[in-house]
Amino acid sequence: MKRSLILSLLCLPLLCLGQYRVETVPNPKEQDRHAYVSNPDGILDSAAEYRINTLLDSLEQTSTVEIAVVLLNSIGEEAPRSFATALFKKWGIGKSGKDNGLLMLLVLDQRDITFETGYGLEGVLPDALCKRIQMEKMLPLFKQGDYAAGMLAGVEGVISVLQEGGLEDDSYIEAQSKSDSSRIYLILAAGLAIALISFLLISLSFRKINNSPLFGDNKERYLSLKKKSRSIIRGTWGLSILLGFFSLAFTDSWSFFLSSFLGPLFTLPGYIYTGLSGRSLRRKPIPCSSCGGMMQIQPKVEKAALLTEGQRMEESLRSVEYDAFKCSSCGHTASFAFDRKLSAYQRCSKCGLKTSQKTSSQIVEPASYSREGKGIREYSCRYCGHRMRETYSIPRLTRSSGGGFGGSSSGGGSFGGGSSGGGGSSSRW
Ligand SMILES: [Zn+2]
Ligand SMILES: [Zn+2]
Repeated sequence: MKRSLILSLLCLPLLCLGQYRVETVPNPKEQDRHAYVSNPDGILDSAAEYRINTLLDSLEQTSTVEIAVVLLNSIGEEAPRSFATALFKKWGIGKSGKDNGLLMLLVLDQRDITFETGYGLEGVLPDALCKRIQMEKMLPLFKQGDYAAGMLAGVEGVISVLQEGGLEDDSYIEAQSKSDSSRIYLILAAGLAIALISFLLISLSFRKINNSPLFGDNKERYLSLKKKSRSIIRGTWGLSILLGFFSLAFTDSWSFFLSSFLGPLFTLPGYIYTGLSGRSLRRKPIPCSSCGGMMQIQPKVEKAALLTEGQRMEESLRSVEYDAFKCSSCGHTASFAFDRKLSAYQRCSKCGLKTSQKTSSQIVEPASYSREGKGIREYSCRYCGHRMRETYSIPRLTRSSGGGFGGSSSGGGSFGGGSSGGGGSSSRW
């Protein structure tokens, strides 16, 4: 008597080792966001596991329904029903707000298969139907010891119910995808409206600048149009980012990414319009200061003849762009210089041309977390050969706070955050 007690005490840790608690069941999403099967005891062979993962991944892609398949040797004395409820809750299977998740739990030592359905699936997958799938498709194969085939048949049975249910009548899944696509149309419409507004605002300020004498010469008009439209486009950006967050709050993250991608696209008409109208502002004939006639902008070849050698070099290095005008009656000329902001060239301190090129850059003191660093850049002028040195500071290092997207359904790490209504069915064999 005493001996068998000691023996069972010795065996207890060993027994516990093979028993899972809700906390110790490996979550497949933590390894791979395309994984749905938790098979830590190897009850499924890898081919069946792969097949089930593939089926469930494409199910999620097309319907957003999340199904987790869990196969365990033992959960000790615990009832599979309450274990499934707790595990479903812990993993949050199904999309948050839609609760369209299903957990299929097989506990081998209790010869038990349990389905736990989320609220959102109970309409399409009522308990009676779960029971039928278990009895007709799974149990016959489980009784023969073929757990892989039985589980696969169960998964296929559930998927075909979900897909038929979605196609035949106006059921949950179809309604869901319908409202998803109508939301996408809504986002598109809102984005187009934003694009249109920015376009109209830019065209209004173009007209104002073009018609009013207050804005000075061609260059000043051009620069004030650019400034104006830059702030309008920034506003458009801000609105489309707001739209992105708005769509994140009301739809799934996929629409959020869609609207974030479309955001820059919505600002495109504004950019194009600014480019075209800016060009027409620059090309407008200007009054001649010497004879009172009109001066015309000069085409490329004629323009080159009017520029100095240094200016031609700036144009060929694309650091400054020139507009040259010539009076057709008296031959008087004028030119306007347009600095190119994105140019890598610096203005030379000796000849004044924007033709100085960086030749070297070296760090004298590297930056640390506590203070900024220092570096020296050297420049050499392509036109006059003058050399310049410039010291610059390197910003202090900052520690990134890490993290990433939390709770996003497309990120790895977890299921979508759905909850179950305690529905489902269990069967034993
Ligand atoms: Zn003239
Ligand atoms: Zn120079």
